[in-house]
Amino acid sequence: MLAEIDVAIIGAGVIGLATAREIAQEKKEVFVFEKNRTFGLETSSRNSEVIHAGIYYPEDSLKAKLCVEGKSLLYKLCDKHNIAYKMSGKIIVAASKNETTQLEKLYEQGRKNGVDDLVLLSRTELKKLEPNIEARAGLLSPSSGILDSHTLLKFLYSQAREKEAEFVFGTEVIGIERAGAKYKVQIKDRDGISAFVAHVVVNCAGLNSDRIAQLAGIDIAKAGYKLHYCKGEYFSLDSKYRNLVSRLIYPTPEQVGHGIHWRQALDGRVLLGPNAHYVEAIDYAVDEMHKQAFYNSAKRFLPFVELEDLAPESAGIRPKLQGPGEAFRDFVIVHEEKAGFPGLINLIGIESPGLTASLAIAQYVGRIMP
Ligand SMILES: Cc1cc2nc3c(=O)[nH]c(=O)nc-3n(C[C@H](O)[C@H](O)[C@H](O)COP(=O)(O)OP(=O)(O)OC[C@H]3O[C@@H](n4cnc5c(N)ncnc54)[C@H](O)[C@@H]3O)c2cc1C
Repeated sequence: MLAEIDVAIIGAGVIGLATAREIAQEKKEVFVFEKNRTFGLETSSRNSEVIHAGIYYPEDSLKAKLCVEGKSLLYKLCDKHNIAYKMSGKIIVAASKNETTQLEKLYEQGRKNGVDDLVLLSRTELKKLEPNIEARAGLLSPSSGILDSHTLLKFLYSQAREKEAEFVFGTEVIGIERAGAKYKVQIKDRDGISAFVAHVVVNCAGLNSDRIAQLAGIDIAKAGYKLHYCKGEYFSLDSKYRNLVSRLIYPTPEQVGHGIHWRQALDGRVLLGPNAHYVEAIDYAVDEMHKQAFYNSAKRFLPFVELEDLAPESAGIRPKLQGPGEAFRDFVIVHEEKAGFPGLINLIGIESPGLTASLAIAQYVGRIMP
């Protein structure tokens, strides 16, 4: 007889951790399986740590709703539990007439999404706020900020454990087979291969989440679940640039990313990034050849930046449902009952603003749990 558990969560990134904390509250027996030696070693620790306001996404999308909801949940959680953050505010800047029109559209979009504190800035107003920035106009988002994401991950992990969620590290899920109303889950660890039975399986496997859905028997091509990897690199700037700009500075958004932005992390480091290019394989090396493009992009708004002050820093990979040249895709967060898989919950394409939305995503999963 195989051991039986209530809920198996696959993946201990911010989404798996927040979900474990949420579901374990309901006194279910929750196990989290993570292939790495500990939690949060993939996309959840390779991002900009920005608390997004919820401006960019179409209204009624999960990205818009869960970002707006998640932002406020996150600020409350950070306040209550002393997790470091800074509501620094953010300015999206425009260099041309076209980009200024884009700012106006973003302002409208943000308001439709419930972001009601946005302010359009003239060049003079922008200069008053950020004298070192060069731009024609700006869109100020006062409620955007940055967060100590590592402390958030540690906090979610310890709260989930307090609520008796069990974490099984160094254990990869390699098979999921429907067994009546339950699932037989096969795992591989350093002792070999074994299996157990779960009533509910929650797929929070990040860059692997399409493959996990496929393992369970979903036709991912038909369902539109195939992920495309989109790499984002960061370059750091010399410490002499600290405190020259006090807010996050973003260009107008690109088709696949929010654009290379300026950020001063909570520890004072000044970073530029991320860029966005589709890749075939997971590789976190930063290509030095991209330095010039980073410099050109930054120089448009930050005229004081010098090429020799940029150094390669880190990279992350976005699990995107949107392929090259394709239109916007929303998060997939679905109980696959209609597809014939009751008890299987898939979370696929949880790219930005996944960190911001994490607590709201976890609540959403709690609501669709069978
Ligand atoms: C460059 C970049 C910048 C970003 N900036 C921001 C930002 O500023 N603000 C924001 O809100 N969001 C941002 N994001 C998005 C955010 O980082 C992600 O949405 C979030 O981290 C996703 O978390 P996750 O738990 O789904 O994925 P992950 O952190 O990748 O976790 C998935 C886990 O599943 C595990 N796993 C996979 N397969 C298996 C298996 N078979 N068995 C067991 N375990 C498995 C993995 O090892 C991994 O630990 C950014 C993303 C990128 C790439």
